[in-house]
Amino acid sequence: MATRVYLGLGTNQGDKANNLTRAIDALSLALGRCTDVSAFIETAPWGFESENSFLNCAAAFETELSPLGLLDATERIERELGRTQKSAGGIYHDRIIDIDILLYGNLVVESPRLTIPHPLMHKRTFVLEPLAEIAPVTKHPAIGKSIRELLEELRENEPNITKG
Ligand code: ADP
Ligand code: MG
Repeated sequence: MATRVYLGLGTNQGDKANNLTRAIDALSLALGRCTDVSAFIETAPWGFESENSFLNCAAAFETELSPLGLLDATERIERELGRTQKSAGGIYHDRIIDIDILLYGNLVVESPRLTIPHPLMHKRTFVLEPLAEIAPVTKHPAIGKSIRELLEELRENEPNITKG
């Protein structure tokens, strides 16, 4: 049985819109049907200094892949699109493409290679904003709140950030 998964994509190098489009095409081939893609939104770098702003989006797929099979696929596609460095120990770099697994159905996974839901998704406007566009009433299976509620809370707690 296919599972609905939500991915968060980001890029801050090269032809950013093209990077997101190519990643979504490759993901459709490897994962299964793409059911939704959010608008591409421009955001400031998060967690590190860079002159290069990000372009972010969220996308939904129906996949038969297991959670780790999905991670293998997203990491392979990151490499194929030319990503070289991994982030480690909270050190972030400019990147051609970053593909994060946000939600895998209602599953909660905690393993050395993989944490689902993505551990920082509910703290990041650049993740929740596009995700809320395609999955506003979907619930975060660990926190129990909808994506729209999580985004509203984040905006209330960070009044300096543009409310868009
Ligand atoms: P970041 O996305 O924070 O910039 P990376 O893309 O370099 O960092 O990923 C760092 C590691 O995070 C990967 O090696 C992967 O094993 C791990 N990881 C854990 N949970 C997830 C998830 N839900 N989605 C993507 N990667 C994850
Ligand atoms: Mg990543």
